[in-house]
Amino acid sequence: MTNHCCEAMNRRVNVRCDQHDDPFDCPDALIKFSAKFREYGLIIHDGGTSSITIDFCPWCGHRLPESRRDQWFDELERRGIDPWEDEVPAEFEDERWLASLPQD
Ligand SMILES: [Zn+2]
Ligand SMILES: [Zn+2]
Repeated sequence: MTNHCCEAMNRRVNVRCDQHDDPFDCPDALIKFSAKFREYGLIIHDGGTSSITIDFCPWCGHRLPESRRDQWFDELERRGIDPWEDEVPAEFEDERWLASLPQD
């Protein structure tokens, strides 16, 4: 499991509610963390699935890791995979794909 910048963020990202399976339905859910893109978003409860990407933690003020969204698409393209057409490998559904990249 990903370790976030602070205890408050850990709690918010991992909030589980027994009344709502989908965090977008749950008024207690504030943060949506996308592991595959490493993106943090504030959930907007407008009945849809909108969220605002945030760069800083609202609780500790720490700068959050940079989004890997562009890299995610680049890496799939490098492997000849079209995410809209082809089946996306399981490691690309969460942060595991990042571990397979050359580390610098
Ligand atoms: Zn924090
Ligand atoms: Zn709930």
